[in-house]
Amino acid sequence: MAKTKSVPDNEKVAIVTGAARGIGLAIAEELLSKGMTVVAVDLKEDALTEAANKLGNPEKFSTAACDVSDSEGFTAVVDDTAEKFGRLDVLVNNAGITRDNLVMLISDEDWDLVLNVNLKSAFIGSRAAAKVMMRQRCGSIVNMASYSGIEGNPGQANYAASKAGMIGLTKTMAKELAKRGVRSNAIAPGFIQTDMTDILGDAAKEMAMVQIPMKKLGQPSDIAKAVGFLASNDSGYITGQVLSVDGGMHT
Ligand code: NAP
Repeated sequence: MAKTKSVPDNEKVAIVTGAARGIGLAIAEELLSKGMTVVAVDLKEDALTEAANKLGNPEKFSTAACDVSDSEGFTAVVDDTAEKFGRLDVLVNNAGITRDNLVMLISDEDWDLVLNVNLKSAFIGSRAAAKVMMRQRCGSIVNMASYSGIEGNPGQANYAASKAGMIGLTKTMAKELAKRGVRSNAIAPGFIQTDMTDILGDAAKEMAMVQIPMKKLGQPSDIAKAVGFLASNDSGYITGQVLSVDGGMHT
Protein backbone atom coordinates (compact mmCIF):
# COMPACT_ATOMS: atom_id res chain seq x y z
CA MET A 1 0.00 0.00 0.00
CA ALA A 2 1.15 3.57 -0.74
CA LYS A 3 2.59 5.38 2.28
CA THR A 4 0.85 8.75 2.37
CA LYS A 5 0.20 11.27 5.10
CA SER A 6 -2.34 14.00 5.71
CA VAL A 7 -2.29 17.26 7.60
CA PRO A 8 -5.34 19.19 8.91
CA ASP A 9 -6.46 21.91 6.49
CA ASN A 10 -5.86 24.66 9.05
CA GLU A 11 -2.18 23.68 9.29
CA LYS A 12 -1.58 23.77 5.55
CA VAL A 13 0.75 26.15 3.73
CA ALA A 14 -0.39 27.28 0.27
CA ILE A 15 1.06 29.28 -2.61
CA VAL A 16 -1.41 31.01 -4.95
CA THR A 17 -0.12 32.69 -8.12
CA GLY A 18 -1.79 35.66 -9.76
CA ALA A 19 -3.28 36.38 -6.33
CA ALA A 20 -3.24 40.20 -6.34
CA ARG A 21 -6.66 40.42 -7.97
CA GLY A 22 -9.48 38.58 -9.72
CA ILE A 23 -9.84 34.84 -9.25
CA GLY A 24 -6.45 34.48 -7.50
CA LEU A 25 -7.40 36.99 -4.80
CA ALA A 26 -10.68 35.14 -4.19
CA ILE A 27 -8.75 31.86 -3.93
CA ALA A 28 -6.35 33.38 -1.37
CA GLU A 29 -9.36 34.56 0.65
CA GLU A 30 -11.01 31.13 0.50
CA LEU A 31 -7.86 29.27 1.61
CA LEU A 32 -7.38 31.77 4.47
CA SER A 33 -10.98 31.09 5.54
CA LYS A 34 -9.99 27.41 5.89
CA GLY A 35 -7.19 28.47 8.23
CA MET A 36 -4.39 27.90 5.73
CA THR A 37 -1.25 30.02 5.60
CA VAL A 38 -1.18 31.68 2.17
CA VAL A 39 1.72 33.10 0.17
CA ALA A 40 0.35 35.25 -2.66
CA VAL A 41 2.54 35.55 -5.76
CA ASP A 42 2.02 38.19 -8.41
CA LEU A 43 3.96 40.50 -10.71
CA LYS A 44 3.69 43.83 -8.94
CA GLU A 45 4.64 44.62 -5.36
CA ASP A 46 2.09 47.46 -5.04
CA ALA A 47 -0.80 45.27 -6.23
CA LEU A 48 0.19 42.64 -3.67
CA THR A 49 0.29 45.26 -0.90
CA GLU A 50 -3.21 46.35 -1.91
CA ALA A 51 -4.37 42.70 -1.73
CA ALA A 52 -2.77 42.29 1.70
CA ASN A 53 -4.61 45.40 2.92
CA LYS A 54 -7.90 44.03 1.58
CA LEU A 55 -7.49 40.60 3.19
CA GLY A 56 -6.09 41.90 6.49
CA ASN A 57 -4.75 38.66 7.96
CA PRO A 58 -1.03 39.38 8.41
CA GLU A 59 -0.38 36.33 10.63
CA LYS A 60 -1.40 33.96 7.85
CA PHE A 61 -0.98 36.01 4.65
CA SER A 62 2.28 37.06 3.03
CA THR A 63 3.33 38.03 -0.48
CA ALA A 64 6.14 37.46 -2.97
CA ALA A 65 6.51 39.58 -6.10
CA CYS A 66 7.74 37.46 -8.99
CA ASP A 67 7.19 36.72 -12.67
CA VAL A 68 6.03 33.10 -12.59
CA SER A 69 7.45 32.45 -16.06
CA ASP A 70 10.93 33.15 -14.71
CA SER A 71 12.25 29.73 -13.78
CA GLU A 72 14.90 30.87 -11.31
CA GLY A 73 12.66 33.45 -9.61
CA PHE A 74 9.56 31.28 -9.22
CA THR A 75 11.56 28.23 -8.12
CA ALA A 76 13.19 30.39 -5.44
CA VAL A 77 9.76 31.55 -4.18
CA VAL A 78 8.59 27.92 -3.85
CA ASP A 79 11.84 26.80 -2.16
CA ASP A 80 11.87 29.81 0.20
CA THR A 81 8.24 29.22 1.20
CA ALA A 82 8.91 25.57 2.03
CA GLU A 83 12.00 26.53 4.01
CA LYS A 84 10.33 29.38 5.90
CA PHE A 85 7.22 27.43 6.95
CA GLY A 86 8.81 23.98 7.08
CA ARG A 87 6.29 22.58 4.58
CA LEU A 88 4.25 23.22 1.44
CA ASP A 89 0.83 21.62 1.04
CA VAL A 90 -0.96 23.46 -1.75
CA LEU A 91 0.17 25.10 -4.99
CA VAL A 92 -2.46 26.90 -7.05
CA ASN A 93 -1.10 27.75 -10.50
CA ASN A 94 -3.60 30.49 -11.29
CA ALA A 95 -1.63 33.33 -12.96
CA GLY A 96 -2.64 33.70 -16.58
CA ILE A 97 -2.87 36.18 -19.45
CA THR A 98 -4.52 36.49 -22.85
CA ARG A 99 -3.13 37.92 -26.11
CA ASP A 100 -6.11 37.15 -28.33
CA ASN A 101 -5.96 37.14 -32.11
CA LEU A 102 -6.88 34.97 -35.06
CA VAL A 103 -4.38 32.15 -35.52
CA MET A 104 -2.84 33.62 -38.70
CA LEU A 105 -2.27 36.94 -36.92
CA ILE A 106 -0.65 35.68 -33.71
CA SER A 107 3.01 36.74 -33.52
CA ASP A 108 5.76 34.43 -32.29
CA GLU A 109 6.16 36.78 -29.33
CA ASP A 110 2.51 36.54 -28.28
CA TRP A 111 2.54 32.77 -28.71
CA ASP A 112 5.63 32.39 -26.51
CA LEU A 113 4.44 34.91 -23.92
CA VAL A 114 1.07 33.22 -23.37
CA LEU A 115 2.56 29.72 -23.31
CA ASN A 116 5.30 30.79 -20.89
CA VAL A 117 3.09 32.69 -18.45
CA ASN A 118 0.14 30.28 -18.51
CA LEU A 119 1.76 26.86 -18.96
CA LYS A 120 5.52 26.88 -18.42
CA SER A 121 4.98 28.65 -15.08
CA ALA A 122 2.78 25.78 -13.88
CA PHE A 123 5.51 23.31 -14.80
CA ILE A 124 8.17 25.40 -13.03
CA GLY A 125 6.11 25.79 -9.84
CA SER A 126 4.90 22.20 -9.81
CA ARG A 127 8.38 20.78 -10.34
CA ALA A 128 9.68 22.67 -7.32
CA ALA A 129 6.57 22.01 -5.18
CA ALA A 130 6.41 18.30 -6.05
CA LYS A 131 9.90 17.76 -4.61
CA VAL A 132 8.75 19.09 -1.23
CA MET A 133 5.32 17.43 -1.35
CA MET A 134 6.74 14.00 -2.29
CA ARG A 135 9.08 14.15 0.70
CA GLN A 136 6.12 15.06 2.94
CA ARG A 137 4.01 12.31 1.35
CA CYS A 138 1.14 14.78 0.87
CA GLY A 139 0.19 17.82 -1.17
CA SER A 140 -2.32 19.19 -3.66
CA ILE A 141 -1.57 21.03 -6.89
CA VAL A 142 -4.47 22.88 -8.54
CA ASN A 143 -4.00 24.22 -12.06
CA MET A 144 -6.23 26.88 -13.59
CA ALA A 145 -7.25 25.61 -17.03
CA SER A 146 -10.23 26.97 -18.97
CA TYR A 147 -13.28 25.99 -20.99
CA SER A 148 -11.21 27.24 -23.99
CA GLY A 149 -8.63 24.54 -23.28
CA ILE A 150 -11.28 21.83 -23.50
CA GLU A 151 -13.36 23.08 -26.41
CA GLY A 152 -11.12 25.60 -28.22
CA ASN A 153 -12.25 29.17 -28.83
CA PRO A 154 -11.91 31.30 -32.00
CA GLY A 155 -9.34 34.06 -31.47
CA GLN A 156 -7.63 32.26 -28.61
CA ALA A 157 -5.32 29.66 -30.23
CA ASN A 158 -2.37 30.55 -27.98
CA TYR A 159 -4.51 30.75 -24.83
CA ALA A 160 -6.48 27.56 -25.61
CA ALA A 161 -3.26 25.67 -26.36
CA SER A 162 -1.78 26.79 -23.03
CA LYS A 163 -4.90 25.70 -21.15
CA ALA A 164 -5.10 22.35 -22.97
CA GLY A 165 -1.44 21.94 -22.00
CA MET A 166 -2.40 22.58 -18.37
CA ILE A 167 -4.81 19.66 -18.56
CA GLY A 168 -2.11 17.32 -19.93
CA LEU A 169 0.32 18.48 -17.24
CA THR A 170 -2.32 17.99 -14.53
CA LYS A 171 -3.24 14.46 -15.57
CA THR A 172 0.37 13.37 -16.03
CA MET A 173 1.47 14.72 -12.64
CA ALA A 174 -1.53 12.99 -11.04
CA LYS A 175 -0.31 9.65 -12.38
CA GLU A 176 3.35 10.28 -11.49
CA LEU A 177 2.79 11.60 -7.97
CA ALA A 178 -0.25 9.72 -6.64
CA LYS A 179 1.77 6.99 -4.89
CA ARG A 180 3.54 9.66 -2.83
CA GLY A 181 0.30 11.26 -1.66
CA VAL A 182 0.48 14.24 -4.03
CA ARG A 183 -2.72 15.08 -5.92
CA SER A 184 -3.00 17.18 -9.07
CA ASN A 185 -6.29 18.54 -10.42
CA ALA A 186 -7.45 21.34 -12.70
CA ILE A 187 -10.35 23.75 -12.73
CA ALA A 188 -11.87 24.80 -16.06
CA PRO A 189 -13.71 28.09 -15.55
CA GLY A 190 -16.15 29.38 -18.13
CA PHE A 191 -16.82 33.13 -18.24
CA ILE A 192 -15.97 34.64 -14.85
CA GLN A 193 -16.49 38.31 -14.05
CA THR A 194 -12.94 39.73 -13.66
CA ASP A 195 -10.72 42.31 -15.37
CA MET A 196 -9.91 39.58 -17.93
CA THR A 197 -13.54 39.41 -19.11
CA ASP A 198 -14.42 43.07 -18.40
CA ILE A 199 -12.28 44.04 -21.41
CA LEU A 200 -14.47 42.00 -23.80
CA GLY A 201 -16.67 44.09 -26.08
CA ASP A 202 -20.49 44.00 -25.87
CA ALA A 203 -20.75 41.63 -28.86
CA ALA A 204 -18.36 39.13 -27.24
CA LYS A 205 -20.26 39.37 -23.95
CA GLU A 206 -23.56 38.71 -25.73
CA MET A 207 -22.00 35.72 -27.52
CA ALA A 208 -20.79 34.41 -24.16
CA MET A 209 -24.26 34.68 -22.65
CA VAL A 210 -25.71 32.66 -25.54
CA GLN A 211 -23.28 29.84 -24.66
CA ILE A 212 -23.95 29.77 -20.90
CA PRO A 213 -26.95 27.57 -19.97
CA MET A 214 -27.25 29.29 -16.56
CA LYS A 215 -27.42 32.70 -18.34
CA LYS A 216 -25.09 34.51 -15.97
CA LEU A 217 -21.36 35.08 -15.58
CA GLY A 218 -19.56 33.23 -12.80
CA GLN A 219 -17.99 35.10 -9.90
CA PRO A 220 -14.38 34.68 -8.67
CA SER A 221 -15.81 33.15 -5.49
CA ASP A 222 -17.41 30.35 -7.56
CA ILE A 223 -13.94 29.32 -8.72
CA ALA A 224 -12.38 29.88 -5.29
CA LYS A 225 -14.86 27.47 -3.63
CA ALA A 226 -13.93 24.75 -6.12
CA VAL A 227 -10.20 25.36 -5.55
CA GLY A 228 -10.80 25.31 -1.79
CA PHE A 229 -12.39 21.87 -2.16
CA LEU A 230 -9.52 20.49 -4.28
CA ALA A 231 -6.94 21.95 -1.88
CA SER A 232 -8.64 20.47 1.17
CA ASN A 233 -8.79 16.98 2.66
CA ASP A 234 -12.44 16.77 1.55
CA SER A 235 -11.14 15.85 -1.92
CA GLY A 236 -8.50 13.41 -0.61
CA TYR A 237 -9.37 10.62 -3.07
CA ILE A 238 -9.65 12.85 -6.14
CA THR A 239 -6.73 13.31 -8.52
CA GLY A 240 -6.20 13.82 -12.25
CA GLN A 241 -9.58 15.52 -12.70
CA VAL A 242 -10.69 18.63 -14.56
CA LEU A 243 -13.57 20.28 -12.74
CA SER A 244 -15.63 22.56 -14.97
CA VAL A 245 -17.07 25.60 -13.19
CA ASP A 246 -18.88 27.23 -16.07
CA GLY A 247 -22.65 27.47 -15.57
CA GLY A 248 -23.22 24.29 -17.58
CA MET A 249 -21.24 25.08 -20.76
CA HIS A 250 -19.18 21.89 -20.78
CA THR A 251 -21.13 18.75 -19.99
P1 NAP B 1 -6.84 38.68 -14.05
O1 NAP B 1 -7.96 39.38 -13.39
O2 NAP B 1 -6.26 39.23 -15.31
O3 NAP B 1 -5.68 38.45 -12.97
C1 NAP B 1 -4.51 37.75 -13.29
C2 NAP B 1 -3.43 38.05 -12.29
O4 NAP B 1 -2.25 37.33 -12.68
C3 NAP B 1 -3.07 39.54 -12.25
O5 NAP B 1 -2.88 39.98 -10.93
C4 NAP B 1 -1.76 39.58 -13.05
O6 NAP B 1 -0.86 40.64 -12.71
C5 NAP B 1 -1.15 38.24 -12.66
N1 NAP B 1 -0.09 37.85 -13.58
C6 NAP B 1 -0.08 38.01 -14.93
N2 NAP B 1 1.09 37.58 -15.43
C7 NAP B 1 1.84 37.18 -14.38
C8 NAP B 1 3.16 36.66 -14.27
N3 NAP B 1 3.95 36.50 -15.34
N4 NAP B 1 3.64 36.38 -13.04
C9 NAP B 1 2.87 36.56 -11.94
N5 NAP B 1 1.60 37.02 -11.99
C10 NAP B 1 1.10 37.34 -13.19
O7 NAP B 1 -7.26 37.17 -14.43
P2 NAP B 1 -8.43 36.26 -13.84
O8 NAP B 1 -9.64 36.49 -14.66
O9 NAP B 1 -8.49 36.38 -12.37
O10 NAP B 1 -7.88 34.82 -14.26
C11 NAP B 1 -7.15 34.00 -13.38
C12 NAP B 1 -6.91 32.65 -14.06
O11 NAP B 1 -8.16 32.07 -14.43
C13 NAP B 1 -6.09 32.75 -15.35
O12 NAP B 1 -5.23 31.63 -15.45
C14 NAP B 1 -7.14 32.70 -16.43
O13 NAP B 1 -6.63 32.21 -17.65
C15 NAP B 1 -8.13 31.74 -15.81
N6 NAP B 1 -9.45 31.86 -16.39
C16 NAP B 1 -10.17 33.01 -16.26
C17 NAP B 1 -11.43 33.09 -16.84
C18 NAP B 1 -12.28 34.33 -16.73
O14 NAP B 1 -13.38 34.33 -17.32
N7 NAP B 1 -11.86 35.37 -16.00
C19 NAP B 1 -11.94 32.01 -17.56
C20 NAP B 1 -11.19 30.85 -17.67
C21 NAP B 1 -9.94 30.79 -17.07
P3 NAP B 1 -0.94 42.06 -13.50
O15 NAP B 1 -2.19 42.71 -13.00
O16 NAP B 1 0.29 42.77 -13.09
O17 NAP B 1 -0.99 41.73 -14.95
